[in-house]
Formats: sequence, structure tokens, C-alpha cells
Amino acid sequence: MRRDRPTPSLLLALLVATGCGAAPSDESAETRASVPTREAPPPSVRPTDPDSVEPRDPSRTWVVLLGTGTPGSEPDRSGPSTAIVAGGNAYLIDAGPGVVRRAAAGAIVSGLTALYPANLRVAFFTHLHSDHTLGYPDLILSPWVLGRSEPLRVYGPPGLDAMTTALLQAYQEDIRARVEGPEQLRRDQLEVQTHEVEPGLIFDDGVLQVEAFAVPHGTWEHAYGFKLTTADRTVVISGDTGPFDGLAEIAAGADVLIHEAYGAEGLRERDADIQQYHASVHTSAVKVGQIAAQAGVGTVILHHQLHLGGETEEALVDQVRLSFDGEVAYGHDLDVF
Ligand SMILES: [Zn+2]
Ligand SMILES: [Zn+2]
Repeated sequence: MRRDRPTPSLLLALLVATGCGAAPSDESAETRASVPTREAPPPSVRPTDPDSVEPRDPSRTWVVLLGTGTPGSEPDRSGPSTAIVAGGNAYLIDAGPGVVRRAAAGAIVSGLTALYPANLRVAFFTHLHSDHTLGYPDLILSPWVLGRSEPLRVYGPPGLDAMTTALLQAYQEDIRARVEGPEQLRRDQLEVQTHEVEPGLIFDDGVLQVEAFAVPHGTWEHAYGFKLTTADRTVVISGDTGPFDGLAEIAAGADVLIHEAYGAEGLRERDADIQQYHASVHTSAVKVGQIAAQAGVGTVILHHQLHLGGETEEALVDQVRLSFDGEVAYGHDLDVF
């Protein structure tokens, strides 16, 4: 049922201590017919494991982990991106590398057609670290090529406008070729509406309310977590954050807390400067458990996991459970909750 995972030894080899930035002294002519559209994907993108396909009730709110990775180039973890699917819409939080392909795969495994690339229209960025934004040009351009006809609306911290302008500039020749060449795409349908936001209520479309809150993340002046509320679920996503006690109050009573985490024991085996970096910029699984217990959330989902000492998945889950007795899930790409 579960896709093959790398063995712990392979993981150990793959997982250099990559946080969001590099830790100090650490190693750190498609055509519309050939690609998934909003209706149905071609057979070539169907998963090989039919057991992994489980259609979900579209009237509920779903969380689909599109990418659970870090800057580390783990083969089965795409860059950070999470989808909330509600009311027939997909709302993305962050767009790490691989985001559009993972969304297409998520549509297949869940049956939630809102995740088809052409339907990706709204995204929120926690912060502008490269691992969370390398899929942004993918999100801007690929769905346009695949038939998205509505504007892409993006919300995020200051700097988002400049990044968007620069990306469109960087791809101007691609855009020109697709508009003027045989594809005859419409330039007016490649519209990106950016919203640089401050903490507070940043979005409400009648289906989803999003509140942004500031989190401490190294030298980032603007790094956010989000509280996302629909008619049937409240989901809090930490973003990348150092230990942040205020999160317990923000997440009080939430159904789901999606939190980044590193293995506390593994960190103790690393060099002092790496310990200091990760302990201030990220949050240990032990601390995640304490925050979750204080908040009284229903389920904790770990993502953006850092195995700094090669700890197993179970070890990280156990560290959360030291304080928290609710449900704890070690998130993998394409898990659906
Ligand atoms: Zn990150
Ligand atoms: Zn980061």
C-alpha cells in the first residue's frame, strides 16, 4: 500500500543537515493534449499502485501533503507544499520544487479534481526561502500551459511582489514563444495577483478563512504560519519556525497542527554551530509535542522533517508523544488527511 521508502541507511546518507538555509559549515512544444487537464489525466500519469488511489468525499475539507521535504534532495520528498481542498477549491501553502506534478498526483490518489494543475488558483507563502518557493515559477507557468484561464492569486510576506515580477521577467522568452508560437496561449490569462500581507486575517472567500501569524525563523524579517478555517475543520500550519510558545494559543483547539520538526537526539550529535543554528531556526519534535499538548489539538502532522542524526521516522513520532497523547502522523508526500 505504502510506496517504497528509502531505508534508514539510505536516508542517513541522503540527509545532510539541511535546514531551510544552509547551516553554517554544513554540507550541505508541450501541447494541451499531452498533459493533465482539469477533466482527466492521461494514463501516463496514473500511479502504478492502484491501492494508493482512494477517492475522498469532496464535500469535506481535506489536507493533502504535496511535498514534505526540506532543501535536502531526498528522492521521494518534494519541496514543502501543502494543499487544503475545500468547497471544490485547492488552496496551496508554499510551493516547493515539484509542486505542480505533486498536485497532479494528489488529484489522482484522492480523486479531488481541484488539485488538477489547471485548477490551481490560490497559494499562500509562509516565507520566501528557496525551498518553499522554487516551485513558484512552476505554479505560475505550468497551469497556464495546461489550461488555467483564471488569475493566480498569491498571498505572502513582503518581497513577494518583487519575486513575482522577477520570475515573469526571467521567463519572458518562454511566455513570448507560447503566445506568439503555435500554442497561441493567451497572455492575458497569465495573470498573477500578488498580495503582500501582514499578520492578521488575510483571506476569506466564504469557504476558507486564513489568518497569518508571525513566527521566528532566523534572520527572516517576515515569516508566517497560517491558521486555516473552513466549515468543518481548523488547520494550523507552523511554517518554518524556531521554538514558538505563542503557537499553542493560536492553535488552541485546532483539529490539525501541521508542524515542521527535527529530531532532538540527532541534533545533539552534531557540531555546536549546527546545533545552535537548528535549535534557533527550527523546532524539535519534542517541542512540537509540548506545543500540541498545550494547544489541545486533535492531530499533529509532521512535515519538513530534519533527521539530523539519522533518526528513524518512528523516533520523531515518539519524541512528539513524550508530551502529546493525541494522534501523531509522520507526513509523507501525497498523504491525505
Ligand atoms: Zn524550509
Ligand atoms: Zn525556511
